[in-house]
Amino acid sequence: MDLLSERIKAMSESATLAMAARAREMKQKGVDVIGLSLGEPDFKTPKHIQEGAKAAIDEQKYFAYPPVNGYLDLREAISEKFKRENHLNYTASQIVVSNGAKQSIANIFLALLNPGDEVIIYSPFWVSYSALVELAEGKCVFIKGALKDDFKASAAQLKAAITPKTKAVIFSSPCNPTGSVFSRGDLEAMASVLSAHPNIVVISDEIYELINFVGEHVSIGSIAGMQDRTVTVNGFAKGFAMTGWRVGYIGAPLWLAQAANKVQGQITSANCSIAQRAALTALTAPQQASKEMANAYYHRRALVYELLKEIPGIEANMPQGAFYFFPDVSSYFGKKDIKDSADLCLYLLEEAHVSLVSGEGFGEPNCLRLSYAASEDDLRTALERITNALKKLI
Ligand code: GLU
Repeated sequence: MDLLSERIKAMSESATLAMAARAREMKQKGVDVIGLSLGEPDFKTPKHIQEGAKAAIDEQKYFAYPPVNGYLDLREAISEKFKRENHLNYTASQIVVSNGAKQSIANIFLALLNPGDEVIIYSPFWVSYSALVELAEGKCVFIKGALKDDFKASAAQLKAAITPKTKAVIFSSPCNPTGSVFSRGDLEAMASVLSAHPNIVVISDEIYELINFVGEHVSIGSIAGMQDRTVTVNGFAKGFAMTGWRVGYIGAPLWLAQAANKVQGQITSANCSIAQRAALTALTAPQQASKEMANAYYHRRALVYELLKEIPGIEANMPQGAFYFFPDVSSYFGKKDIKDSADLCLYLLEEAHVSLVSGEGFGEPNCLRLSYAASEDDLRTALERITNALKKLI
């Protein structure tokens, strides 16, 4: 029987989650797999945030449905954060708290797109962008950045990709999967192209904001003329090690925040009450723990870079943020039975017991993604195993 919708049949499985599930299965069978596939901090959620959740339970006040767009005090704290850290002025009514930044992005595409509307996606891109555009019956238009340009597509490419059907542009900075950071100059160039197209909505995914090794994080919404057309996406998963709590949020033009609220009201009602209280603690307490985690990623980045450089046939640049490397591994294609990056990832999973994600789902089939959100010991062992497994291919 074939009862599934065409929509769901056309949708690809999340490549990141699929690989993580595969690694988990192998681990359950007793195989010593080192998981470098999922973009997930290996740190525990900081203690004071855990305590915030416990206190919320003890208060006995947070067991009922929260407001669809999130508790007012949390949205006010987010509004303050946007002002303080990003020079963005979104009022509390322009903020919608969701089940992770992924739902935030899904809400926006569902609220914004008519069939055939085009969304320009900076590529390499996070796997779910294209799937969510297509779920909303939009059309993806990719503009691709090359490794030599830190994988950043240029403003000229953006300009050339715009058509009368372009409804939105989406990118992440720091970028998943490349770790690239769009500088103020990059964003100003982007804004300058977009200034001639006031009806294009910009979706700026800033979920890796706190993991930035070049210092300045710039929100495109803070550039003159951009705020009223920019949706700024953020959340707690990466910077506060809260992946499982599922708290993401947007600041958006009011009309779009209200539409996202309407979508969310029909799909999930609201985000988990206790998780929201934990998120409020995260945002209002000192942020030392986030800084320490970012510092650990900084050291791991240096370690992985040194080890990757030693592997023949791998070309990697130095990422500026997030916790990923996105090396070009195409020199191994054609060796033994390995046709592409997916085959190479499978080979490394079987042979080296290291899980990675093929670049294909991210829009760059010559690369693979390695998450270094793992302990230095695991990273050393994983890179040693990868090196040995790749030697067997030469
Ligand atoms: N965003 C993380 C990643 O890219 C988590 C998995 C997912 O939602 O894709 O690995």
